[in-house]
Parts: sequence; structure tokens; C-alpha cells
Amino acid sequence: MRYSILSVLSQALQGNTGWKPVWRDAELKPAYDIVIVGGGGHGLATAFYLAKEHGLTNVAVLEKGWLGSGNVGRNTTIIRSNYLLPGNIPFYEWSMKLWEGLEQDLNYNAMVSQRGVLNLYHSDVQRDAYARRGNAMRLHGVDADLLDREQVKALVPYLDFDNARFPIQGGLMQRRGGTVRHDAVAWGYARAADQRGVDIVQNCEVTGIRLEGGRVVGLDTAKGFVRAGKVGLACAGNSSRVAALAGLRLPIESHVLQAFVSEGIKPLIDTVITFGAGHFYISQSDKGGLVFGGDIDGYNSYAQRGNLPAVEDVCESGMALMPMIGRLRLLRSWGGLMDMSMDGSPIIDKTPIEGLYLNAGWCYGGFKATPASGWCFAHTIARDEPHTLNAAYRLDRFATGHLIDEKGAGAQPNLH
Ligand SMILES: Cc1cc2nc3c(=O)[nH]c(=O)nc-3n(C[C@H](O)[C@H](O)[C@H](O)COP(=O)(O)OP(=O)(O)OC[C@H]3O[C@@H](n4cnc5c(N)ncnc54)[C@H](O)[C@@H]3O)c2cc1C
Repeated sequence: MRYSILSVLSQALQGNTGWKPVWRDAELKPAYDIVIVGGGGHGLATAFYLAKEHGLTNVAVLEKGWLGSGNVGRNTTIIRSNYLLPGNIPFYEWSMKLWEGLEQDLNYNAMVSQRGVLNLYHSDVQRDAYARRGNAMRLHGVDADLLDREQVKALVPYLDFDNARFPIQGGLMQRRGGTVRHDAVAWGYARAADQRGVDIVQNCEVTGIRLEGGRVVGLDTAKGFVRAGKVGLACAGNSSRVAALAGLRLPIESHVLQAFVSEGIKPLIDTVITFGAGHFYISQSDKGGLVFGGDIDGYNSYAQRGNLPAVEDVCESGMALMPMIGRLRLLRSWGGLMDMSMDGSPIIDKTPIEGLYLNAGWCYGGFKATPASGWCFAHTIARDEPHTLNAAYRLDRFATGHLIDEKGAGAQPNLH
């Protein structure tokens, strides 16, 4: 079923009785050419681009829960391509370009909203760092504007500009950045992959990876054994657990990250704002709630829920930036499982096991990467070699020392 203004009108006239399920409830077949483990954004996008770009449709996506139960439905929905390092900028900019055409590509309203992302700076040193970042972005053809204090004040006058500890001096703006409705991304990719023949199997946890002679031959699952020519792992916060089923030890730690939504208020914040003096970012959803978050909880965990000290820390940062939000009630909060890599950058690569491919290490920035990640992972699996866009995201860089340390924080996941 194709969505269009005509289909909406005709459904309205039929009392909305003719809508079809958005994807089939597929049964697991005995064998596939390619099986993707993990029905999050990255796994579903990979399946879609395998079918669309490479004509590979004998593909299954196995998801242990329901679609959207992982980070793809738990994030704060921010997209941007304001990176500094050569390995990162082209990849994230390709993702931004794919976001810009995504709704037409998927025939699905993912509510892509390029409302801008404003990173605030609070010192001369931070301004210089942002000027450098903005120049690197422009050299790669990415939009970036360095704003002074008055320009920022004109955009977001409700912030605390004269905060005694963290006065706002200006900001780096990427106007093409913004937000996307996160669960619509999962549903849109699922629908588009399903339409091309991909089987999406929910409630199908992978419990074993079978190897023969150093290559992958299939998977044990909650619904039985399935043979697979190739297997792609896209399990985000569970990556290390699933890779361990094949005997692989990954340079990844899993940590919890929480998100928060306030009660709904009238339109106030029409961009995404990030605090430069603490880890805090905020935007406003179309329903009116302020959506915000901060740092990871800071200890290793596989639980999809967080703890109170991080709530206090995030709210303190929010108050330092925008004291008026202290009068709002917090409506909801939740946690997701972050696959924190040791340099803060992702891995999209083949593994030492033939036929086994890895997509992981997204830290807390993998939502914005979803389209490019799926596109590059599909290329890597289909062609058995990385695309130039993900050539730097090698698994062996942690052994060879070719790290992509965007934050300059070293191997400390709590600082990325
Ligand atoms: C609170 C929060 C805020 C965030 N904010 C942002 C943001 O603003 N911008 C941004 O770019 N990124 C953000 N992120 C990060 C982003 O959400 C993730 O990096 C990204 O979603 C990870 O990729 P995914 O969508 O494929 O993950 P997931 O949706 O987690 O998909 C992985 C899937 O694998 C499944 N799985 C695991 N083990 C198995 C198994 N054994 N068998 C079968 N299936 C399995 C899981 O159930 C899960 O559905 C945020 C994350 C959180 C938690």
C-alpha cells in the first residue's frame, strides 16, 4: 500500500477501515542468504539497503523483542553532521543527505525536521575549538555558522546568558541538523524492507552462532536453527554479548543513557540546543514536551533503565542553562543501552570470522548515523569489503592504534 494524500483521503471516506498492517508478520524460514541480528534502526536500514542498492532480498532481520524496543525508540532524536575528524565528517554528512531524502525513499513520514543544532560555547578556548570544527565542516562541504553572543541571544533569548559560572559567549550552528521522529524511522525502514521481500521476525532472540571451519553457517534462535550464508550483527548495547556467542571479544562497554520529557508546553524551543559547559541537550517535541538528556550513567550495565544520580546531574545542567525549566514537571524518563567503543567512534567492518560482519560502537550518537550506517553495512556485507565512507571504522584499529578519537578523550567511555 502506497501512502499519499489520495490514500489518506480515500481512507477517510471509508472510515479508516482499509489500512493494511505496515509490515508482514514473517515466519522464520530454514535458510537465508543474509541474516541481520537486531531489528533496531541500523539492522532494519541495512536490510532495506541490501534490497534497494544490491538487489539482495533473501534476507531476514531477527529481533529479540519488538521493533523499536531498543535504542532506536529510546533516543532524543537529534541528527547532525557537525564532526571534526576526516574519518567521521564524510560518513555523517552522507547520513544527513540520506535523511534529507528519507521520507521520499521510504514513502513514510518520519517527521524529519531540520530545525538546526546549536552548540553553545562558554570560553575563548571553546570558541576556538568550535571555529576549528566549523572550518573542518565547511572544508568538507557541510554547513556551519559560528555565532557570537548577540546572534545566539536573538535566537534563544530564554537561556541564562549571564550565568556567573558559565556565561554564554556564542555558538556553532548547523542549520541542517535537527530531529527525526525516532520510532517512525524503525517503522519506515521495516515497511520499506518488508515491501522488498525482507523477512522481519520479532520475538526471535539469537542464542547461538554456529561456525564450521572458521566461517559462520547459521544461528540458533528462540524459533529454532536458521542457516545463513552471511550474518550481520547490529545489536547496539548487546553487541558484546552477541559477538561473544561467536567467541569474539569486542572493544566495547555497555552503559545506560537516560532521556527525559517534560509536560507539554506552548512552542518555545525551535531548535536543538547543547550546553557547552556540561553534558546537556534539549529540544521540544511536536507534542510540546521538552526532550532532554545528558551523560551516560557511568557504570557498566545491560539494564534498560537508569538511576537517580544521573537524573539529578542532568536536571542541574538544565537549570544552569535555562533556569525557567525548573518550573516544569518531568513527565517521563527511560534508559537505553549504549555500546560505548574505546575511542567513541563506531565499527562497521568484517570480523576475523568469515561471513560474520559487525556494526557496533555507536555510543550515544548512533541515531543520526542510522541511514549511512545501514547503507555502508549493506555495502560491506554485499561486496565483502567496506565502502570508502566506512573504511576508517575498522575493528582492528584498536590493535593497530588507528583510533578515531573525535573527543580526544582516549579510551574512556564515560568521557565520550
Ligand atoms: C536515551 C538515549 C538518547 C539518545 N540520543 C541520541 C540522539 O539524540 N542522537 C543520536 O544520534 N543518537 C542518540 N542515541 C543513540 C542511538 O539511539 C543509538 O546509538 C542507536 O539507536 C543504536 O542503533 P540501533 O537503532 O540499531 O539500536 P537498537 O534499537 O538498540 O537495536 C539493536 C537491537 O538488537 C536487538 N538484539 C540484541 N540482542 C539480540 C539478540 N541476541 N537477538 C536478536 N536481537 C537482539 C535489541 O533488542 C535491539 O532491538 C541515544 C540513545 C539513548 C538510549
